[in-house]
Amino acid sequence: MPLILSINDASISRAVALLRAGRLVAFPTETVYGLGADATNGQAVAAIYAAKGRPTFNPLIIHVAETHALDNLIEWNDTARLFAAAFWPGPMTLILPRIADAPVSLLASAGLETLAVRIPSHPAAQELLRAVALPIAAPSANASGKLSPTTPEHVAESLGDAVDLILAAGRSQVGVESTVVNLTSAIPTILRPGGVTQEQLERVLGRKVAVFEASDDSAPPSPGMLSSHYAPHIPVRLNAETVSDNEAFLAFGPDLIKGGVARLNLSVQGDLNEAAANLFAMLHELDKPTYAAIAIAPIPQIGLGLAINDRLRRAAWR
Ligand code: AMP
Ligand code: MG
Repeated sequence: MPLILSINDASISRAVALLRAGRLVAFPTETVYGLGADATNGQAVAAIYAAKGRPTFNPLIIHVAETHALDNLIEWNDTARLFAAAFWPGPMTLILPRIADAPVSLLASAGLETLAVRIPSHPAAQELLRAVALPIAAPSANASGKLSPTTPEHVAESLGDAVDLILAAGRSQVGVESTVVNLTSAIPTILRPGGVTQEQLERVLGRKVAVFEASDDSAPPSPGMLSSHYAPHIPVRLNAETVSDNEAFLAFGPDLIKGGVARLNLSVQGDLNEAAANLFAMLHELDKPTYAAIAIAPIPQIGLGLAINDRLRRAAWR
C-alpha cells in the first residue's frame, strides 16, 4: 500500500522532496484527487502514464499556484487574463499556445504546441504547488478507465504502489471537474464542461463562448483541439528492420541497424519509460523536410510500449 499522510508541514516537505526526485504524489484538489509529477521531467511524466495504465498519451493539465508561474510556459492573451482574473484559483483549465522553450516535457502535452494550465483553489494543492515551485502535471489519480477518485482511499485502491505518497484531505467536492476552455481557436471554446459554466464565462467575456460537441463529426475542431493532432510532416515507417540512405532512423535499444541520414535512440537501454519521455522531442527533431521519412524500430507491446505504439500508429497514419 502507498504511504498516506494528512496535510501538515512535514508531509508537504516530503511530497516536495519526492516530486523534485521525479516521483509521483497524489494530492487533493477541489475537483478530484490528482496524480502529480514534475512536468519539467519527462521520465516523471512518463511514470504518470505507466501508473495509470493509459494505453494512449492524452495531454495532461499543468498545475501551478499563481498566474506569474505561467509566464514562461504559455502565451498570455486578453481573454486568458480576463478569465484568469475572474475564475482562478478554481475549476477552470485554459488551453493556450505553449512558449517554444517552455520547460515542460513535450510528453505532458502529447507533442502539441499548446498547454492546458490550471490554478487549483484547494488549500492543500495551493500549499504543495507553492512549496514545490515547479509546474506539476496531474491527471485524475485513478487507473485508466476507472472512476475519478474523490477520497485518498480511492487513490490507494486504484493505483496501489504505483504512487509514492498520497496527501490526504478527506473527500473532494464530487462531480465538479475543471471546465476546459480552448483559447487558441478564433472563438473561445469549451472542450469539457465543468465547475465554471458557459454562462459565467460569457458574462465575464461579454460575448459568446462555443461548446465543442465531441459527437459532432461534421464539424471538426480546429487544429490543436484534438489530443490526436500531433504527427510529423514527413512519412513515418513503423517496425523498420532496415533503413534507407535518405531516411532518418529512430532506434530503440541496442542500435544494430546501420544506415540513414540521421539517427536518434529512444532508449539505448531499451527502457520504455525513457523512450516515452523522449518520444515527442525526438520525433520533432527528426521531422526535417530534407529526410524522406522517419523509420522507427519495433517497440515492444508491453507496459508503456502500448501508448508509444498507439501514438506511432497515429503518426504513421495519413
Ligand atoms: P484529466 O486528465 O482528467 O485531467 O483531463 C484533462 C483534459 O484536458 C482532457 O480532456 C484532455 O484532452 C484536455 N487537454 C489537456 N491538454 C490539452 C491540450 N493541450 N489541448 C487540448 N486539450 C487538452
Ligand atoms: Mg481523468
